[in-house]
Amino acid sequence: MFETERKDLVEILKKKGIRNEQVLKAFMRVQRHLFVPDIMKQHAYADVALPIGMGQTISQPYTVAYMTEALNPQPGQKIMEIGTGSGYQAAILNELGARVFTIERHHDLHNSAVKIFDKLNLKIAARCSDGTLGWQEFAPYDGIVVTAGGPSVPENLKKQLAVEGKLVIPVGDKKVQTLHIITKISDEQFKTREVPYFAFVPLIGKEGWREK
Ligand code: SAM
Repeated sequence: MFETERKDLVEILKKKGIRNEQVLKAFMRVQRHLFVPDIMKQHAYADVALPIGMGQTISQPYTVAYMTEALNPQPGQKIMEIGTGSGYQAAILNELGARVFTIERHHDLHNSAVKIFDKLNLKIAARCSDGTLGWQEFAPYDGIVVTAGGPSVPENLKKQLAVEGKLVIPVGDKKVQTLHIITKISDEQFKTREVPYFAFVPLIGKEGWREK
């Protein structure tokens, strides 16, 4: 279903500068319409963020592709995602062969993503907790992607990243963020590349924004 729409979306991603063939293939294979509410299915392949309930969104496909390309996960690598939301980004990472560990703070979103993973038989480890604390049990991670915007880079995530691993996280105020693409050089040393003008929902937690 929606194969033509998926092809068109992949063409849009290419035009916008996504080059990694594996990432583009993953976008061709993962069916975004399965991760959005029924009334949104017709819009699932538009390059826009869509509401998924609880005031949250499934990110714009271009943003998911950009972050995935920046993370560049390799088959077998351990990748942690903060902000499961619909489960779509986790499914893209899984499609690329990564071992995915995803965390969501909203029970309803966590439960509905787990249901989709089970239905599609995706082996993705998911938990409901504050992702700014990471998931110590399985650390260190070869890559960490945060799909909500925080005021700073959580120290827990820096600690749980493997040396040579990458952490991709939007940092800024609640409306606009800069994407930080961080490489861990050693336990104390990090190198950061910054890409401006992203807009994510807030990262809420102990090392994020405080809940109102
Ligand atoms: N990756 C998601 C997808 O593919 O649908 C995008 C989800 S949305 C842009 C960001 C998600 O981060 C929301 O579902 C929100 O509840 C979640 N979130 C915010 N702060 C969090 C935290 N501290 N720990 C875990 N999840 C968090």
